[in-house]
Amino acid sequence: MNTYTYELDGNLYVNLTNKCTNDCAFCVRNEKASYYGYKLWLDKEPTAEEVIAQIPDVKKYREIVFCGFGEPTIRLAELLRVADYVKGRGGVTRLNTNGQGNLIHKCDITAQLAGKVDKINVSLNEADEDSYETLCKPAFGKAAFGALQDFARGCKKNGIDVWFSVVDCIGEEKIAKCRMIAESCGVPLRVREMITDS
Ligand code: SF4
Repeated sequence: MNTYTYELDGNLYVNLTNKCTNDCAFCVRNEKASYYGYKLWLDKEPTAEEVIAQIPDVKKYREIVFCGFGEPTIRLAELLRVADYVKGRGGVTRLNTNGQGNLIHKCDITAQLAGKVDKINVSLNEADEDSYETLCKPAFGKAAFGALQDFARGCKKNGIDVWFSVVDCIGEEKIAKCRMIAESCGVPLRVREMITDS
């Protein structure tokens, strides 16, 4: 049984893919078969219609969040179709992303997201491109770190509520550097606790 959507904290999460352009050292996929009791490994990726069929009442949830065991923007067409459905019924949408969507699709996708995705959390994770490459092992190499900043700038330019996130365990010095990067992109930085359990 594939888990295409799962409920957590009043939100509905959408698990579009298990593919990712990163291989982060801290990724929950490395250690866990399930996440908060939900089995998020997929035998088959869902169509947009299969996801939509699981959201009969979008207003039941605070947010519909694109976030699963993989990078949601890899399935951009399905993401946009589901987000369009949710917005059309008065719901709120959020995307949690590694910010590599422009690299993945070889074009700036941020204008396509505008109007369909209300909020975007871009995982910054690190304070410089070398550290990011070591921690996240991006398929795009060093280009990933600058590209995710360009992605965030594009989201901001297109009127999307976008922010960077880092986990507090990277330490104060790196957090200060991340704050400068966020400021240079004109987006906020949110520092969150590491998720350690499921
Ligand atoms: S970007 Fe997210 S899904 Fe991809 S490897 Fe890193 S933590 Fe896992």
